[in-house]
Amino acid sequence: MIRDLHEKLLNGEVSAIELVQKHLKTIDEKDKELNAFLTVTRDIALKQASKIDEKIKKGEKIDLLAGLPCALKDNICLNGTKTTASSKILENYVAPYDATVSERIKDAGAVILGKTNLDEFACGGSTETSAFGPSKNPIDTSRVPGGSSGGSVVSVASDEVVWALGTDTGGSVRQPSSFCGTVGLKPTYGRVSRYGIIAMGSSLDQVGPITKTVEDAAIVLSRIAGRDEMDATSAKSSDKPYEDYCVGDIKGAKIGVPSEYLGEGLDESVKEVFMNAVEKYKELGATIVDVKLPHTEYALATYYIIMPAELSSNLARFDGIRYSKVEGVEPETVLDQYLETRGKGFGPEVKRRIMLGTYILSAGYYDAYYKKAQKVRSLIKKDFENVFEKVDYIFTPTSPELAFKFGDKTDDPLKMYLSDIYTVTANLAGVPAISIPIGTVEVDGKNLPVGGQLMGKWFDEEGILNAGHTFEINS
Ligand code: GLN
Repeated sequence: MIRDLHEKLLNGEVSAIELVQKHLKTIDEKDKELNAFLTVTRDIALKQASKIDEKIKKGEKIDLLAGLPCALKDNICLNGTKTTASSKILENYVAPYDATVSERIKDAGAVILGKTNLDEFACGGSTETSAFGPSKNPIDTSRVPGGSSGGSVVSVASDEVVWALGTDTGGSVRQPSSFCGTVGLKPTYGRVSRYGIIAMGSSLDQVGPITKTVEDAAIVLSRIAGRDEMDATSAKSSDKPYEDYCVGDIKGAKIGVPSEYLGEGLDESVKEVFMNAVEKYKELGATIVDVKLPHTEYALATYYIIMPAELSSNLARFDGIRYSKVEGVEPETVLDQYLETRGKGFGPEVKRRIMLGTYILSAGYYDAYYKKAQKVRSLIKKDFENVFEKVDYIFTPTSPELAFKFGDKTDDPLKMYLSDIYTVTANLAGVPAISIPIGTVEVDGKNLPVGGQLMGKWFDEEGILNAGHTFEINS
């Protein structure tokens, strides 16, 4: 997709301005219903597009991303633009600087059409916790798009933009991609700078591309990855662009399929599509190996201790004094200011996690919960180290189920958390993971997408991108 559009721009078949206008029109037509966008940055987009057209006219070299419409999840700072994290507490917050990823894609000439909806502070798996209403799954609007990067995924799946960025702390790029039929990549922890991202769980968060094809994900990753002095956890990237590794051949690769990801709770129809995909990999010349990740059963519990602990401390900064003011808060004392701002500004799911996190980190319980969870996290990581001595990639379903209906899980947080069961492990271990479309299941006359997840060794984005690409071009 990206390459084709780039060619069209270069040979004059379409101009960047025309491309933006076409996508803005699609947003006008579809977004009232889909609610993917919280802010549309029409003027910024048109200005950037005309700059790119100028460059093309002058015969200057342009990047693959130049002139192509994209969107950013609304927890990624974009200078001069509202960045709300879908929370009332940041309803009026205008970011005074660019996140490193925003800066990098702007430098590449990308045309940002706006900021997309998410679960509040990225806490959720359906966009139903957004303070500004949920986004809808374009394939069946009675169903959720998944979350938390639901808006970004919907904007790509419904052709409002060519690609988008999301963030993934426990599956938020991959699970909605699986529900809407897009490609979603969570890079290795450290691969992409987190500077300017509204932090959720700082030891888990990564920014990742959401695209229509695996090669497109590679192209976007090449532009956002690499060392950034503003994020001490960021790592140097290779000089060779990731798209150059998408060669379309995986003969001789060893792919591990862990039985822990195929047990209880996995929807039968998802399992069938997944097993067909495993067969496909065999046909493509890969060797399938049964592997064991024995600590998987503790992963969800571990995630739901570490994440709220980190979230509660990250969200402590929202006090009504810095950032933005919550409407209707007129306090008499500083304490009232805190209490009223946080009481009115945060939604119920975020409050639940703040309370859990605060409890987990409190003096008497720290060892029993947080420290223990960190120990289990090491065991989960060790599982991956062991398996990656035997295989190159691990292949699993992305989510145990298909996109579910609105309201199906809103009164039972545990049910909602179970949706993350196959994705949280990659965040806990820090490994890269990509969700690719592997088939569909017909329900109520709609073809609901199924995603397959490829996990790779630390910093082996090249490997999983090529494995995903090879599947894609052969199906
Ligand atoms: N659904 C998961 C959660 O609610 C993952 C969120 C995320 O990756 N941001 O925590």
